[in-house]
Amino acid sequence: MAQLTDDCFAFSGTLLPVAEMEKLIAERVTPISGTEQVSLSGARGRVLAADVLAPIDLPHFDNSAVDGYAVRHADVKASGETKLAIAGRLTAGKAASAAIGPGQAIRIFTGAPMPPGADTVFMQEDVRAEGETVIVPSGLKLGANRRLAGEDVRAGAVVLPAGRILEAQHIALAAALGLTKLELRRRVRVAIFSTGDEIVEPGTKRDGAAVFDANRYLLAELLNRLGCMVTDLGILTDDPAKLASALSEAAEAHDLVLTSGGVSTGEADHVRTAVETVGRLVFWRVAIKPGRPVAMGVIRGTAFAGLPGNPVAVFVTFVRVVRPLLLRLAGALPQPLMPIPVTSAFAYEKKKGRREYVRVALRRRNDGEYDAIKHPQDGAGIITSLTETDGLLELTEDVTAIAPGTRVGFLSYASLAG
Ligand code: AMP
Ligand code: MG
Repeated sequence: MAQLTDDCFAFSGTLLPVAEMEKLIAERVTPISGTEQVSLSGARGRVLAADVLAPIDLPHFDNSAVDGYAVRHADVKASGETKLAIAGRLTAGKAASAAIGPGQAIRIFTGAPMPPGADTVFMQEDVRAEGETVIVPSGLKLGANRRLAGEDVRAGAVVLPAGRILEAQHIALAAALGLTKLELRRRVRVAIFSTGDEIVEPGTKRDGAAVFDANRYLLAELLNRLGCMVTDLGILTDDPAKLASALSEAAEAHDLVLTSGGVSTGEADHVRTAVETVGRLVFWRVAIKPGRPVAMGVIRGTAFAGLPGNPVAVFVTFVRVVRPLLLRLAGALPQPLMPIPVTSAFAYEKKKGRREYVRVALRRRNDGEYDAIKHPQDGAGIITSLTETDGLLELTEDVTAIAPGTRVGFLSYASLAG
């Protein structure tokens, strides 16, 4: 099933601003079709295909929020103490048998149903039990420590919308409602390739000019965390014909074909030409640093994204270009990144008109605020600049310089990967 039609984008050779790229993806890419019923234990990280409606109220019945004594609020004197007769005992899981009468209290425990007629619960710490009676103070509000049926969820309400990516708390809610299965979108199938005559598999013999492949490992893990089904198709050499046939074949059985390397303007960069042979380029070059030469295209209805070769550029373009594309293909609701304001501890200059990502470590100050400290090495090939930092500062298009003390948006790696 084609997600992208051939005329869905107009190819632009100019630098595409990030916001425009995101708009194009949101407007023109259609989510994949196909759903399946999945049990709760297999649902984490997957995308809901349909709204979930609550089959029952939550809580299902009025119950006590504390261990204590259920009373009729009207029996409690407005001032001084009130002595009530203990008329019964209710533990969690036991249905209330008899209604509470005037002047009575019922010993009750957390989660036990409210006895009919009782409307308020005194915490056991706030009262004095004396034999068959309990002495309660004045001043407790009507309805205190009582949980009303439906105060959390009303039966029939939409509790989880279609497109929600399910995390532990969403699955817990489904379980609390008594559900055992959820209707989910099928996983997005992604094929990954590395490209480059110099790239070799880790563990193989390496001659002087060879480079161990880091990008397929980076991409596979980032894709796994997004709930994709990943097919690792290995390393391709810088051969236009081989690239074209490999991309074309991969497009047949996948929803997205993802490559790294070979998309720049060097003489050995053939990925773009290969895409144009078997499909169509949608855009090439986004106004982003690192990672400017990033390509998106369509190969017979299947999405294609060609990322740069340097691992840091791969990381940044994955987060900024592939992630929104994948979320859209997966039928997920948009998940806007949420930069958290921190304080720059350094000066930095950049070009206007492009979005720039700076790798930083955070340091907590005495006043509880966070300072962002730039990694000493800027190069897009410096992998330790990703492993020795906590996340990325996002410097927007309008910014031309920051100085120590400037407030800037920080994206943690943890927030970017999910
Ligand atoms: P390219 O865009 O193909 O010119 O690659 C840019 C740089 O990234 C070159 O130094 C490549 O050797 C390096 N590179 C490309 N692919 C990978 C990879 N899979 N793993 C590690 N480095 C890579
Ligand atoms: Mg290359």
